Amino acid sequence: MISMSARLAAPPIRLYNTLGRAHQQFKPLQAGRVSLYTCGPTVYRYAHVGNLRTYLFADLLRRVLEYNGYVVEQVKNITDVGHLTDDSFDRGEDKMLVGARLEKKTPEEIAAHFTEAFLADERRLNIQPATHYPRATEWVPRMIELVERLLERGLAYESGGTVYFDIASFPAYGRLSRNTTAKLLAGTRGEVDPHKHSPLDFTLWKSAGENRQMVWPSPWGPGFPGWHIECSAMSMGLLGERFDIHSGGADNVFPHHEAEIAQSEGVTGHRVVSYWMHGQLLLLSGTRMAKSAGNFFRITELEEQGFDPLAFRYLALQARYRSPLNFSPEGLAGADRTLRQLRRRVAEWAGGADGSRADFPERFLAKINDDLDLPGAMALVSDVVRGSLAPGAKAALLLDWDRILGLDLDRAPGREDLPAGAAELLEQRARARGARDFATSDRLRDELATLGVLVIDGPEGQRWRVGPEP
Ligand code: AMP
Ligand code: ZN
Repeated sequence: MISMSARLAAPPIRLYNTLGRAHQQFKPLQAGRVSLYTCGPTVYRYAHVGNLRTYLFADLLRRVLEYNGYVVEQVKNITDVGHLTDDSFDRGEDKMLVGARLEKKTPEEIAAHFTEAFLADERRLNIQPATHYPRATEWVPRMIELVERLLERGLAYESGGTVYFDIASFPAYGRLSRNTTAKLLAGTRGEVDPHKHSPLDFTLWKSAGENRQMVWPSPWGPGFPGWHIECSAMSMGLLGERFDIHSGGADNVFPHHEAEIAQSEGVTGHRVVSYWMHGQLLLLSGTRMAKSAGNFFRITELEEQGFDPLAFRYLALQARYRSPLNFSPEGLAGADRTLRQLRRRVAEWAGGADGSRADFPERFLAKINDDLDLPGAMALVSDVVRGSLAPGAKAALLLDWDRILGLDLDRAPGREDLPAGAAELLEQRARARGARDFATSDRLRDELATLGVLVIDGPEGQRWRVGPEP
């Protein structure tokens, strides 16, 4: 069957390019194909839903490109060494090693465990697997090669076994993040590494010092790579010295992507990435969700609380990727309810009488091609649900759009998810609670428990989860 989108005269795709801060019409380097690099996770801890929002954004970008008929080659790196912020880098602290020490495991064991957990989290959110998941530890020779080329071209210098990028040699430094050297210098504080020519110079290769683990031989003695060089090596290594789109979180713009441009363009002498795209942060009570601050949720925690993980996906679709999004359990509960209801409606409508789809296909495509306007697309979902199209036409539209939304709208809840009889008991219990008949509602809770359905009461009503208590 020819897809709905292929039959439409598609409006051009407009994307917001952080480099230049403007919307631009998307033009791939090669007709019909898109090369996309997405900064991936550091695998020394579990991902939180803030991190996952950034990968969800990349997934939506990719789905929009695919919906428009492009073949997308996506690379998402696995950082299994280092990831040293400039501060901790100077202290020689490797987060992989810190993680390994805390868990009394080897760095390889830690990385393998958290890589698996990350991939499972992506599956929970229907994030399509990348074409390649390169591991940084497998790309060290390529990183060394890039550092050598930067030294040859006079863009880097070595001191005491550590190699630094010389930002004075790269006048475009600061262009992506709109920083000037003067502004950046004013922001440098604390001890400055005496080996650096400028406090702004960043590390490409770090001398091993006392470290014995995660150390590689190099022309400058044993050491390990800086975080930024990893992404230059893996992106150009797999996608070539020119590729279409580079995505990441807003906090990656500086210093990570600024440094990546300096390295990759420093080595090649030309522009490497056409479009730089950044997803805004997920907040919790107004502050950034962060591992270090301890204010985060994992997607598995939310699942254990009875939420469908895709309710988080639904929640993320309510905000544009360039806007910060505040996460709240109440917001998630609302998304969870609406999503389950939407699936019930689609199940009722599927197979019903078909009919005209009006101009909904064109309008949907116009929204998603407008720099991924998913809130606009979700407003069209509501219009279809509440509107007067024939049931079969409603189901067909929603199921087609689910290729972008990724909400499993073809999954009818309460049928395969719930054991027989449980749906009725849940309804009776909701009524009993509504009537403040708590004796009955407690009895029904126990009955449901014997069926393996755990009921959780919250301010927004009852939720349920199938399976044993965690
Ligand atoms: P990390 O594993 O710490 O390197 O982070 C992985 C990705 O998650 C990076 O691309 C970050 O930009 C992104 N990220 C970190 N915190 C948040 C947040 N609160 N909201 C959205 N993205 C985030
Ligand atoms: Zn990166």
